Amino acid sequence: MKIVMLGAPGAGKGTQAKRIAEKYHLPHISTGDIFRANLREGTELGLKAKEYMDAGALVPDSLTVELLLDRVAKDDCRDGYVLDGFPRTIAQADVLTDALAKSGDKVDLAINIDVPDEHIQRRMSGRRSCPQCGQGYHTEFNPPKEEGVCDKCGAALIQRDDDKPETVAKRLQVYHEQTQPLIEYYEKAGVLKTIDGTKPMDEVFADITALF
Ligand code: ADP
Ligand code: ADP
Ligand code: ZN
Repeated sequence: MKIVMLGAPGAGKGTQAKRIAEKYHLPHISTGDIFRANLREGTELGLKAKEYMDAGALVPDSLTVELLLDRVAKDDCRDGYVLDGFPRTIAQADVLTDALAKSGDKVDLAINIDVPDEHIQRRMSGRRSCPQCGQGYHTEFNPPKEEGVCDKCGAALIQRDDDKPETVAKRLQVYHEQTQPLIEYYEKAGVLKTIDGTKPMDEVFADITALF
């Protein structure tokens, strides 16, 4: 099963992608996570990507597309994967479609998590994550047991640099201009399912698993 997650920044793609990946034993592939891991390791790619991420812009395709194609060519992707944050443009979607078509394959399901803009700033301002194990939290909607501390591994939680309000506004604009057209793209491909992402996370997940 090859799954693509669609939705605005903060819609809950990562939250749901992790749960889907766990339940169906598929790798969770987040291009944002890959860039952030590169940055932590101080690679050239990480440093380059950071400039764009901090500005709320998309990282250029020249840095993104090969990376993703190499990742999905790995052995653990043979039975499928959950893509979170890729594709983000029609050009990226075309690259993926063409790469899959070479082996007579295609994206099986595009899950659009629908959350209106007015919810997004609140989602983003409360987002926290664990730098050690990757677990996500929200100060209001999914708080850790002890403030600022990961339930799973005890590490201090962090807030992303690009989750400040000015950057979120820019990311939302980029989403509408460049990523939202993918909803129609996958609708035309006959694989789109739209889910109400304003419900609590467990309900969103139940709605997603009902698609399988
Ligand atoms: P969110 O989960 O809030 O949607 P991500 O972690 O997916 O954010 O992405 C963070 C940033 O990484 C994006 O704002 C963008 O700068 C960059 N990025 C991630 N994936 C892509 C992609 N497929 N193409 C271009 N830029 C990307
Ligand atoms: P995305 O990957 O689309 O940017 P995330 O999965 O990181 O979004 O979610 C953004 C923030 O909103 C996180 O802090 C997460 O805990 C929280 N969140 C995710 N889904 C929901 C939901 N259904 N209701 C309330 N908060 C949510
Ligand atoms: Zn942790």
